[in-house]
Amino acid sequence: ATFADCGLHPDLQKAVAETGYTVPTPIQAQAIPVVMNGRDVMGAAQTGTGKTAAFTLPILHRLMPLANNSMSPARHPVRALILAPTRELADQVADNARKYSLHSPLRTAVVFGGVDIGPQKLALRNGCEVLIATPGRLLDHVEQRNVNLGQVGILVLDEADRMLDMGFLPDLERIIRLLPQQRQTLLFSATFSNEIRKLARSYLHDPVEIAV
Ligand code: AMP
Repeated sequence: ATFADCGLHPDLQKAVAETGYTVPTPIQAQAIPVVMNGRDVMGAAQTGTGKTAAFTLPILHRLMPLANNSMSPARHPVRALILAPTRELADQVADNARKYSLHSPLRTAVVFGGVDIGPQKLALRNGCEVLIATPGRLLDHVEQRNVNLGQVGILVLDEADRMLDMGFLPDLERIIRLLPQQRQTLLFSATFSNEIRKLARSYLHDPVEIAV
């Protein structure tokens, strides 16, 4: 199987080819068609399996019809929200998203704690279809009204087990309450504890389970 077999948008295929990837990894082969079809996913995958591209590529594909070259921030509302436990992971996901969207007008931003909030505020106010965030800093931005999550149609909880271990459950619940109920939700976790299953039952709708 190739990325073209998945039916990925040509602009994304071009970007993928430029990264040097030729064959999808097992989790990519399984997840890309399912996510493209709009289904919820519960994915068991460790870092190093190619899981970032497994969700980022089909998300960008789904957002391509909404991509536009407008200079107006209002024309670039947040459509996909990717939550990650740490600055390092958020940064890595953002690097991936930026690379894959290079040939599209989709905009990406990343926000995380431990750094000055000012530049992040400017990035959010410029508009971005894809927002990658750590939960606490995202809520700071919500409180400052730097970002509106009312048009988020896709939510990713990446390394959900680590987010729970770090005590982010109340933040996650607060964030999810701000999102439209009608949305696609993807949950990735290295382990599936009772807490993770409970989170999945609360927020995922008829998920496809993928394990690699
Ligand atoms: P991840 O598990 O998402 O952190 O990805 C692990 C590493 O594999 C990263 O350095 C990716 O750039 C790389 N990678 C992801 N997908 C592929 C692929 N289909 N072919 C080759 N390398 C890949």
